[in-house]
Amino acid sequence: MYGGTKALASKRENLFVNDSQFRNVCGLVRDSLSTAMQRSVSPFTAIPLNLFKASPNDLEGTVQTRAHSISEPLPRAPEAIRAARRMMDSHGRTILDLRISITDRCNFRCVYCMEPDVQFQPPEALLSPTEIARIAKVAGSLGVRKIRVTGGEPTLHPKLEEIISGIRQTSGIEIAMITNGSLLSREKLARWKRAGLDRITISIDSVRSDRFSKVTRSTTTPDDVMRGIEMCIAEGLTPLKLNAVLVRGVNDDEAVELARLARRFSVEMRFIEYMPLDSAHAWDATRVVSARETREAIEAVFALTPTNADDPHSTARTYHFTDGVAGQIGFIAPVSEPFCGACSRLRLTADGNVRPCLFSTKEWSVMPLLRGGASDTEIADFLIDVTWTKLAGHTISAPTFVQPQRPMSAVGG
Ligand code: SAM
Ligand code: SF4
Repeated sequence: MYGGTKALASKRENLFVNDSQFRNVCGLVRDSLSTAMQRSVSPFTAIPLNLFKASPNDLEGTVQTRAHSISEPLPRAPEAIRAARRMMDSHGRTILDLRISITDRCNFRCVYCMEPDVQFQPPEALLSPTEIARIAKVAGSLGVRKIRVTGGEPTLHPKLEEIISGIRQTSGIEIAMITNGSLLSREKLARWKRAGLDRITISIDSVRSDRFSKVTRSTTTPDDVMRGIEMCIAEGLTPLKLNAVLVRGVNDDEAVELARLARRFSVEMRFIEYMPLDSAHAWDATRVVSARETREAIEAVFALTPTNADDPHSTARTYHFTDGVAGQIGFIAPVSEPFCGACSRLRLTADGNVRPCLFSTKEWSVMPLLRGGASDTEIADFLIDVTWTKLAGHTISAPTFVQPQRPMSAVGG
């Protein structure tokens, strides 16, 4: 037992936790080792000591069930709204974009997202490919035009191809996927494309190997991800976008190096402000690197010109390089410049809860309908009713803000 926590202590400098959280992790390891020894199982099977270097094989190590409380009964949208057969909220916004988390599992443990001891849902609690396809069909009939497959890490899902082809059965929907880019191959990308995937976004938070492993707590390297980027471009899963989250004191000095990727690959590199959606609940405003600060750092090296071509519902404000080199920079500033007024998004968690907003503290499960023989009309009414509850905006900067219990990885970022 002592060896386990001692090994953890040697990794202490890699952790993004305060002292009390570190003590909790040590406690968890101690408890797990103790349980494993009682069962005469190798403690290394029960909880890997390379806990902070997660690899795909580590996924089985920390699976536990965590029940999420579903909020109060879902209020009914006005009859006129239901009759319109569109997902409209009480602030005049319409849903066009559905984000579906297909798994809450991941082979990374990004410091701003998922703690090493994060608890996963058991597989039977998750939406099946058939259920995902059904929701896509109903959402499509209500006007959704884009579905983003996300997670957790969607490429870990053993039935990803089936999920994509199931969504593809609904015509007129663009299918995008966001991935950490660690598990890509030409063969898999070609299969997903044949199944109906249109484009990919890849997250990359550092181009420095040592930094990358500290941020992601994985054994993947930036070069692995760059190979993934090249493969997506070669397969035509474009326009490809790259995402980075800068966290103060972690990778906030890398804006320019990451911006260079946009020029190198002729893609859009997007900087997302760090949001209070980390499973550690360690977010605080001083850790946020604002879009403005990031833009100023990049502009000290590369002049930027607004594209003035952003979709009004887009989360990103995009810029060209003024010197004419291909590639774009995008800034997503939910904390410093909230864009809630133009929100057209609804989210479905891997375990079938529909969330009106990333920051909702309320969500409602569609599972009883899906698994209880409900008709498509009843499921559509449910989606319309949930949409009607969307609040005008998040309140991250307000003193009354309450961080949702669910981290980004479970919500479907
Ligand atoms: N695993 C995939 C990935 O990393 O791209 C997909 C899921 S991940 C939750 C989706 C996006 O959310 C990633 O671009 C990630 O950087 C971002 N993200 C996660 N936690 C975040 C946080 N606390 N604040 C801002 N963005 C976050
Ligand atoms: Fe995994 Fe993506 Fe969260 Fe990183 S951001 S831990 S890759 S889900």
